[in-house]
Amino acid sequence: MNIKVHRGTHQVGGCVTEYESNGYRLFVDYGEELPGGSKKGDLQVEGLTHGDISKSALLITHYHGDHIGSITKLPKDLPIFMGKVGRDIQLELSDHLKSVDGVHQEMLGRLQTVNTFEPGKPFSWGDFNIMPVTIDHSAFDAYAFKIEADGVTAFHTGDFRTHGFRSKTLPGVIKKFIGEVDCVVCEATNISRPDAAIISEHDLQKEYKELFTKNKNNVVYVSSTNIDRLFGLYHAACDTNRVFIIDEYQKRIMDIVSKRDPIWGKSELYNFEENKQPIPLTRKRGKFWMTSKLKWLLGEMGYVLIARSNPYFDEFIQMIPGDKQTYLSMWNGYVDPSKPAYNEKLAKSLGESFLYKHTSGHYDMNSLRDVLQLLKPKAIIPLHTENPEAFAQLFKDEWQVIVLNDGDSFQPYRSKNFVL
Ligand SMILES: [Zn+2]
Ligand SMILES: [Zn+2]
Repeated sequence: MNIKVHRGTHQVGGCVTEYESNGYRLFVDYGEELPGGSKKGDLQVEGLTHGDISKSALLITHYHGDHIGSITKLPKDLPIFMGKVGRDIQLELSDHLKSVDGVHQEMLGRLQTVNTFEPGKPFSWGDFNIMPVTIDHSAFDAYAFKIEADGVTAFHTGDFRTHGFRSKTLPGVIKKFIGEVDCVVCEATNISRPDAAIISEHDLQKEYKELFTKNKNNVVYVSSTNIDRLFGLYHAACDTNRVFIIDEYQKRIMDIVSKRDPIWGKSELYNFEENKQPIPLTRKRGKFWMTSKLKWLLGEMGYVLIARSNPYFDEFIQMIPGDKQTYLSMWNGYVDPSKPAYNEKLAKSLGESFLYKHTSGHYDMNSLRDVLQLLKPKAIIPLHTENPEAFAQLFKDEWQVIVLNDGDSFQPYRSKNFVL
């Protein structure tokens, strides 16, 4: 088996990896580069974007735009595989955004043809055996893959972390479904983000609880698809007797997990409490509408409003009573004018006196060791990172780290060779 990284050896967004065996080509992810990425245009790959695709397929690790965002540019008959719940969340997101961004209209069409898989249920394609396992990340229903062909096994981590609500299951999942592998293709985002906010999702929720106790009126800016954070905030609001307010789109996204996820859908964490259903925002002529009953309720109880940066929310926030504390519950690079990802609109909606309360969707370097000790790889290829050399420096005494450039290939050794 041959592993080729087309993009992502020295950048975070838009990673594309190819596994090749016996003429079959299995690609992983085809997303957008993060803002500020190279301006070379769309990545062209023979056997993926053009040429003979009769022995090609694409796996998607999760619904973040840097992993799925460019699939609309791929040939219509290329088979694409992704998790079912993740697909449903992307459908809802694209449906919501289709009127403001035509790409999402195309995405809706492409998603109809996507094949779905379930965690822990292996499937084969061409020469490959694929085992998808669920992994904790700021996107829900994110996957890592064991990819096996020609007697060689690779573990493709996708984006992941070890400090989320669902991370505790990872060692058990690796032991049960993955075992030891020849090669790990490993995301390494935080090697060059030493200042990334990394506390456990659980501790972050505790901080929110304390803040919601202290502050009666709360407005939180959070990604509409960060399911763990949303439910963490919801339960923090319930525990502090604040009214939890979301719009209908946000409710539909949360319902996808609480009603449909085969593993987590029944967990209390991902469900609404019987007598504390979220209050949905109603609209009148497109705008959010404040009834006198709602005004009274918010004034009486205090609230946690889940907001997004747009004129509807900006206007609604002006209408609701009391002094408000605003929070940024996503990466602060979006409101840092020195970063290419700077979002002026968000910075404006957020105002000056916001609190930054967030934890990263990516693991911290220290916790990776425990994961690697279970996988015992003979080689590790860092991916989804700006600095694979620093990653190699950190782990070179324990594992063989293969630093590639975009377009380079690596052939992992077969386990069998070691036994013989
Ligand atoms: Zn991601
Ligand atoms: Zn990513």
